Amino acid sequence: MKQRAGSKALIREINEALVLDVVRTQAPVSRATIAVQTGLSPASVTGITGKLIQSKLLVEAEMIRDTGGRPARLLELGRDGVFAAGVRLSATAALAVVVDLRGGVVSTASEPLTSTSPADAAKAVAKVVSAAVGSRASRLIGVGLALSGVVDQSTGIVRHSGALEWAEVRFQEILEAELDEPVVIDSYVNAYARGLLFDGTFTGRELLVFSVGTSLGAAVVVEGRIQRGFNGSAGGFAHARSLTSSEAPRECHCGAEDCFETRSSLWGMRQELQRRGLQREVDPDADSDVIADAALHLGIGMANTAKVLGPQQVVVAFAPEANIGKFAELSGGAFQHQYAHSNTPSPLLTNAIVDHEALARGAACSVMASLFSARESQPNAESA
Ligand SMILES: [Zn+2]
Repeated sequence: MKQRAGSKALIREINEALVLDVVRTQAPVSRATIAVQTGLSPASVTGITGKLIQSKLLVEAEMIRDTGGRPARLLELGRDGVFAAGVRLSATAALAVVVDLRGGVVSTASEPLTSTSPADAAKAVAKVVSAAVGSRASRLIGVGLALSGVVDQSTGIVRHSGALEWAEVRFQEILEAELDEPVVIDSYVNAYARGLLFDGTFTGRELLVFSVGTSLGAAVVVEGRIQRGFNGSAGGFAHARSLTSSEAPRECHCGAEDCFETRSSLWGMRQELQRRGLQREVDPDADSDVIADAALHLGIGMANTAKVLGPQQVVVAFAPEANIGKFAELSGGAFQHQYAHSNTPSPLLTNAIVDHEALARGAACSVMASLFSARESQPNAESA
């Protein structure tokens, strides 16, 4: 994110973030309530909200009578003050969305990729962001990027991306030079989790988000924050080892054997069809046994992971192409079954179909979230 100079400016930003966060979570809200919730003096709140209204981050809404019987205007977030862009980068295309301060999508654009080289990908991202942003460029606060792979967000390095065939690519730096905007990069499952956190719609402080598509992934949320792990390696459930069986080991593209990815990802299911001499996509009718095996392993793998963390909720984000046959239903059943004899109740399990736009929106929300968090406004703090 942008570096900000001076401790005075920093304190101002922290206080603005405190005020914005109260309005975001409680709007429409009065200045008096903001003062109580933030611990700031009424005079400070008047000053800060005045400035935020001027810059269109806040707007005055309905009038109420406050406790003293005087008329008071309630405040809510403005829709035209600032915008953030988010991009879902895949091997074939870049899809961009622009969100307003409330996380609402105001425009989208897409652009095919001529190649997956970092330079070409950066050019495509710049083009698609420009198309989506249009006349809002002067009010853009940054760009979030969601891609497949292991991303070390603190250094902006894509450690590994099988889909893009990248290793150790300093893509944040490349993209910031191309865009001339602050950039936040993340794995797509983390970006999606950021969108959920921004919306505040999930239950509790601990959350696991699994992504199921061509590959598998997971986002780990502890105390409301995404955990990164060493080198961005947290959530590496795809390449944990699944059950061993009497059949021949399944080789994974990562070099190991019998990873969950070899059984429960679309890639793994297609590999199984190939072993059967079938060169085609998974068919919900003809391949129900392959889907059932994938679902069983997925459910067990997710439950194993969940039992270590103990989240209140588990969200399973299926790519539209992975919403095949009874895959989601059976994996949910296998997950619940692992809790049947447990001394702890099963977390709330929610299945979602998550398309590229939802991933791009999550990436945009991770940029927008920096406005609402005092901690994240600090230079050098983790921008997650
Ligand atoms: Zn593997």
